[in-house]
Amino acid sequence: MHTLYKALIMSSVISAQIAWALPPTPSIVQAEYVEASAGTPLKPKQKIGNLFQLNQKKPFILQRLTQRTYFFQRHDYSTTFYVGDKGVLLFDPLEERGENLLTAIRQVTPLPILAIVYSHAHYDHLGDTKIFTEAAKKAGIKLKIIASSATAEKLAHIQSELPKPTDIIPWPKGIFKFENLTVQLNGFKRAAHTDDHAVWLLAEEKVLHAADHMNPDQLPFWNFGGSENYLYYPENLKESYALDWTFINAGHGNVGSKDDYKFYFRFLTDLEKATKLAMKNTPWGTNIDPKKVNNHAAYMVAWRKVVSQKVTDSLRSDYGKYYGFEYSVPYNVDMVALSVSEYR
Ligand SMILES: [Zn+2]
Repeated sequence: MHTLYKALIMSSVISAQIAWALPPTPSIVQAEYVEASAGTPLKPKQKIGNLFQLNQKKPFILQRLTQRTYFFQRHDYSTTFYVGDKGVLLFDPLEERGENLLTAIRQVTPLPILAIVYSHAHYDHLGDTKIFTEAAKKAGIKLKIIASSATAEKLAHIQSELPKPTDIIPWPKGIFKFENLTVQLNGFKRAAHTDDHAVWLLAEEKVLHAADHMNPDQLPFWNFGGSENYLYYPENLKESYALDWTFINAGHGNVGSKDDYKFYFRFLTDLEKATKLAMKNTPWGTNIDPKKVNNHAAYMVAWRKVVSQKVTDSLRSDYGKYYGFEYSVPYNVDMVALSVSEYR
């Protein structure tokens, strides 16, 4: 074989290996990483090791959080289930992950799934509900679907194809019992993510199910996890931080603790400060040649792009090593900039 050709093949093999073998990003909270276990509950400071790689390679990750509560994750989406004496309470039957979720539940209990909770109306978290309603129908089980009144009304309003909730919890605060467990709805009256966004506390387990609220062990995902606004984001975090829990399952990211929130509060403070500074130092019309544009949208787009780039550059030395920095931060700056300029 031609030597140059060989060298090219070798270099592509090596770069493929390097790409695959990129080291995991460091923990934002100096977590103690352990191997995922469906049998051994986590200790408060522990997290699942090599989570990104596991999501790439394994059909799913199942982690026991407490005696009765489990964290399930597949392809970077997670949910929670609770095993009672007579049946299982399942949160968010994740889109395209229902079969794996069922397999994971069957790994730890043969008990029937008796109730599902819709955390909020986003389809990507609820899309496989039908797998569970159909399985229950076949088994002759009356499956409850629990949702807040805000979520139930929103699903009705958009004429969602999802199975309708059967049990409605009054918005924004309410509780229901599943066997001996108290589940507390904490809806955000002014919400960042969606207008029906809520976190659900499994009170005696001290586990918070908070889909799309944050990203434990990672920087906030793109647009703060697909939030509709930034304005209420910090105050929503403060509200859920004050609840009594040890572990958070936030729908994405690792298992979280209150240390993740402390990092977030620090990061958001730095992000807002840097954004305000960059906005102040970036005159309207930067990177625009007035002779080459015929619309004012061009000014807006150019200005936001410059601000976003400046902030991302200024945060890189402190935060650049963390999960998703280059991909999420520019978009998150853009949301913060819009929020702090519109609301003063
Ligand atoms: Zn969502």
